[in-house]
Amino acid sequence: MIMDLNREQVSYGSADQPAALADVMSVDVEDYFQVSAMEGIIDRRDWPSMACRVERNVHEILDLFDRHQAKATFFTLGWIARRYPDLIREIAKRGHEIASHGMQHIRVSSQSPEAFRSDVRESRALLEDISGSVVLGYRAASFSLTPGTDWLMPF
Ligand SMILES: [Zn+2]
Repeated sequence: MIMDLNREQVSYGSADQPAALADVMSVDVEDYFQVSAMEGIIDRRDWPSMACRVERNVHEILDLFDRHQAKATFFTLGWIARRYPDLIREIAKRGHEIASHGMQHIRVSSQSPEAFRSDVRESRALLEDISGSVVLGYRAASFSLTPGTDWLMPF
């Protein structure tokens, strides 16, 4: 399974209130053949014929989070949502946030502004339709908010 589990501590506070730490957990919902390291090895056109592990693995993570009463944000590929809509509904039903990871894990730095906008809109609408919840978050594939993607900031 390739699934990024990210745990961070976030500090928040104000001038009047001392900062506090909060644990923040997130998951990238993608399969092993969809990560950028597989670009050039596995063609996107072959994705439909690949054996998927994501469904089983996400259920294991959901059970683990339930046992520890942990909530997370699940940054989900539109490709996964389209193929496994019940999985997206299950994530949302268990109280986790659904967020977008784009449709097909394409780096922001490889997209034009128009292509990026279309990708985000399509994945957001799909995830909202399936989950029944508002999608607010987006995670760029492979840390691809890099110099040269400044055009993204007006979004
Ligand atoms: Zn990813």
